[in-house]
Amino acid sequence: CGIVGYIGTRAATEILLAGLEKLEYRGYDSAGVATVSEGNLDCVRAKGKLCNLQEKLESLNNPARLGIGHTRWATHGKPEEYNAHPHTDTNRRLAVVQNGIIENYRDLRSKLKAKGHEFRSETDTEVIPHLIADYLSVSGNSFLDAVRQAVNDLKGAFAIAAICADYPDELIVARQQAPLVIGFGQGEFFCASDTPALVQYTKAILPLENGELARITPLGVEVYNFAGDKLRKAPRTLNWNP
Ligand code: GLU
Repeated sequence: CGIVGYIGTRAATEILLAGLEKLEYRGYDSAGVATVSEGNLDCVRAKGKLCNLQEKLESLNNPARLGIGHTRWATHGKPEEYNAHPHTDTNRRLAVVQNGIIENYRDLRSKLKAKGHEFRSETDTEVIPHLIADYLSVSGNSFLDAVRQAVNDLKGAFAIAAICADYPDELIVARQQAPLVIGFGQGEFFCASDTPALVQYTKAILPLENGELARITPLGVEVYNFAGDKLRKAPRTLNWNP
């Protein structure tokens, strides 16, 4: 029910956990984070309170500077660890968090299964990493191309964030009828379902509109529509009085 993401120079895990804490008010039954560092994707998830996830993460001392996190309010599939986000593709190279509902997931799931993708959860969300991986396997497609093609296949209301071990400098986000905001820092960027998760780090905020996706790197943010046209966007400065 809440999404966060980070790319920059600091340890991502701490920032993701702090962001998820700020989104706790939205309610959740499980939580998880995925990070990319040194060509590896790592995914850690836990049922129940955020402190359960925190406990699992503490001992790992993860140095990653790129990651995504999620608090889940189950709609499709039991509130169990194997259904918690992030979800990964068959080869566990890319990870996705989603807020919302993918209405046509049954159809997509059976098509992807027929192509050899291996599913590990009962969620509507898991089709997304498999679909992105499927498009990524088409020669000439970048991570951004693959995510854009995947979101065009999805029906429903959703916001997603995605990372891939083969693209260690990219955080991709997309929005369709569910909230998602991008925060601009100095050489670092954030994303979240809602601004309260970001205001401790930055007041420069760009809310994504429906039908937009963004490629976020340590150098900046590029926004596109789902057709692939690049859009001119700039953050606005929040007047935040907590
Ligand atoms: N529909 C998704 C699931 O059940 C996402 C729920 C949410 O927004 O937390 O996994």
